[in-house]
Amino acid sequence: GQKVVLITGCSSGIGLRMAVMLAKDEKQRYHVIATMRDLKRKDKLVEAAGDAYGKSLSLAVLDVCTDESVKQCINGIKDRHVDVLINNAGIGLVGPVESISIAEMKSVFETNFFGVIRMIKEVMPDMKKRRGGHIVVVSSVMGLQGVVFNDVYAASKFAMEGFCECLAVQLLKFNVTMSMIEPGPVHTEFESKMIQDVRQKEFPGADADTVNYFKNVYLPSSVDIFETLGQTPDDIARVSPPVIEQGSSARFRNLTNPLYTPIVALKYADETGGLSVHAFYHMLFNLGPLMHVSMKAMQYLTCGCLRSRTVSPN
Ligand code: NAD
Repeated sequence: GQKVVLITGCSSGIGLRMAVMLAKDEKQRYHVIATMRDLKRKDKLVEAAGDAYGKSLSLAVLDVCTDESVKQCINGIKDRHVDVLINNAGIGLVGPVESISIAEMKSVFETNFFGVIRMIKEVMPDMKKRRGGHIVVVSSVMGLQGVVFNDVYAASKFAMEGFCECLAVQLLKFNVTMSMIEPGPVHTEFESKMIQDVRQKEFPGADADTVNYFKNVYLPSSVDIFETLGQTPDDIARVSPPVIEQGSSARFRNLTNPLYTPIVALKYADETGGLSVHAFYHMLFNLGPLMHVSMKAMQYLTCGCLRSRTVSPN
C-alpha cells in the first residue's frame, strides 16, 4: 500500500515542494499529509498539487510549537499511522548576538529544536511499536558547520543533529530509520525574509564595528553565495523520494549541495578546529565579494586532499 508521509511547514519553500513532489509520484507510492499552521496559506500548495489535491495529498493544521496542535493532528490521522515523518518547519535568524534577545533566541529553538522533538515524541512510540517507520529531518549544513553571524540558527540545528544522532542508534533496534537532509543555501522565503528583516533592523546593543562587519561584509557575501550557489526548493525536494525509498538502508546524513561536502570535510580533517575557523575567516574578511570563488577553489583543494587520503590510507 501507499506510505503515509506527514510533512511540517508546507505553506512555502522546501516543505511545499516536497509535498507536491511526493504526492505527484509517478508510481503513486505516497499519501502525503501536508501540514501548516494556518490553512489560509494553503493556496500556493493546492495550486501546485493540481489533481493530486484531495487524492494523494490532504491538508491538516499543525503548529510544531504547540503540544495540543501536534496531538490533535496526529490523533486525526487514521490509526495515528505515519510511515514517514518529515520535519521541515524551521525559522532562520541572523545578526550580531549582542542585538538578539534571549527571548528571540528561544523562539528559534522552540521551532527548530523543540518543534522537531515534539513531533518525534508524538509519532515515535507508534513507530517503535510497529517496528517500522522513517523520521526525516530537514537540517542544514549549518547543523554541521557554524557560519559567522548565524550563531543561534546554527546552534539550534547542531542541537537537533546531536539529538537525532543519539536517537538514531536506539531506533535501529526498533527498525525505525532516522535521516537528516542538509541543504546549503536555498532560494525560499527563508532567505528573502532574512534580508528584509536585516534591512529594517537597527541592531541595538551591537557596537559599530560589529554592525559594519555584519551589514557590509557578511551580508553582501551571503547574498552573493545565495546567488551563485543557491539551490531551488525542488532540488531539495528531489532528495526526499530516494531517502524514503532506501528505508532502513538510507544514509543518516544527506548533503544536497556538493559544494558543502568539502567544507564539512575541513572540519573533520583538522580536529583542532583551526582549519575551518581560519578558512572561513579568510574567505569573509580577506576575500569578501570573492567568497564564492574561494569556496569553489576550496572544493577543488579539499577534493584533492580527500582523494589522496582515500588512495593511501595510513
Ligand atoms: P520557508 O520559510 O519557506 O519554510 C519554512 C516553513 O515552516 C514555512 O512554511 C513556515 O510557515 C513554517 N513554519 C514556521 N514555524 C512553524 C511552526 N511553528 N509550525 C509549523 N510550521 C512552521 O523556508 P525553507 O527554506 O523552505 O525552510 C524549510 C527548512 O529548510 C527549515 O527547517 C530550514 O531551516 C531549512 N533550510 C533552509 C535553507 C535555506 O537556505 N532556505 C537552508 C538549509 C536548511
